Amino acid sequence: QILHEFLDLKGNIRVFCRIRPITGGENFGHLRPVVASNSNEVVLKLMDNKTKSYNFDQVFHPGSSQDQVFTEVEPIIKSVIDGYNACIFAYGQTGTGKTFTMEGSADTPGIVPRAIEALFKQAVDCNHAFLISFSMLEIYMGNLKDLLVPKPTKVTDPMPPCLSIQADPKGEIVIGNLVAIEVNDFNQALRLYRLGCRLRTTASTNSNLTSSRSHCMIRVAITCFDAAERRRETNKLWLVDLGGSERVLKTKASGKRLDEGKAINLSLSALGDVISSLQRKRHHIPYRNSKLTQVLKDSLGDDSKTIMLVHVSPKEEDLCETICSLSFATRAK
Ligand code: ADP
Ligand code: MG
Repeated sequence: QILHEFLDLKGNIRVFCRIRPITGGENFGHLRPVVASNSNEVVLKLMDNKTKSYNFDQVFHPGSSQDQVFTEVEPIIKSVIDGYNACIFAYGQTGTGKTFTMEGSADTPGIVPRAIEALFKQAVDCNHAFLISFSMLEIYMGNLKDLLVPKPTKVTDPMPPCLSIQADPKGEIVIGNLVAIEVNDFNQALRLYRLGCRLRTTASTNSNLTSSRSHCMIRVAITCFDAAERRRETNKLWLVDLGGSERVLKTKASGKRLDEGKAINLSLSALGDVISSLQRKRHHIPYRNSKLTQVLKDSLGDDSKTIMLVHVSPKEEDLCETICSLSFATRAK
């Protein structure tokens, strides 16, 4: 409750930073961590004993648990019940832990399963009737793909219909043809989520590369009914595992890899422009510059709550990308 009020006080966009631990396979001896921090600040040790520091609403250290992260994220779930649209993004270079934070593992579940569980629990606690639906899509090279609709297995099977982005008269975004499955409890939603995750990774020959070259977006929509069983508006929670933010032009990528990387870089900079324009209360918010920001248009803005979780690597060799990610995050504040 206190956290919830705190979230209100702090405005609509909060920016967190999570520093990945050195993992088992990495040789710690050659990989001096370059990041030091306290709970609100990240300090980078640069050359010549210089340092550079960045401030955040919250910093999660390499030792922070999924529990600790979710505790800071949870107030946004209450906002959705209270009538806001909300968005949680994981941003960062490939390999910095975005999927770990959002999806997690069987014994350390991430934000997505926890958020859905919390949404059900809080909706039940409200004592009003409610409906929750689950959708999942991917944006790859500027194309939207439904992750709950399997690709046809035979050439004679019809292709799934293309998704399109439209706005209804009230300005609410409607994604034409996107499957939204009504779920009665947490476990049903979780099964759909697992299905979507599987479809995402089996759709390509090199799953790791492709998943870092696309945005994975989960939409949980809740419609609450008031005491007279009249329908109240539907609110949306978007949970987004963004494509890797590494700057593709600086790498030796070519051909398809280069095109994929450019598409990701463009949409991430469009996202940065939107968030920065919102924070500066600009008159014009450039939502139209990417599919990503068009999809999120009614969930990113004045009447919405947003959390951006910027992920960075502790490794010295990633310092350039770390600086880029931290600068991106600073622009969002
Ligand atoms: P990304 O999605 O950003 O490319 P991943 O989530 O796949 O990165 O993380 C890369 C690797 O590091 C994975 O093996 C993951 O399990 C591990 N990892 C990332 N963050 C953590 C963390 N906070 N604690 C433990 N392991 C982590
Ligand atoms: Mg990932």
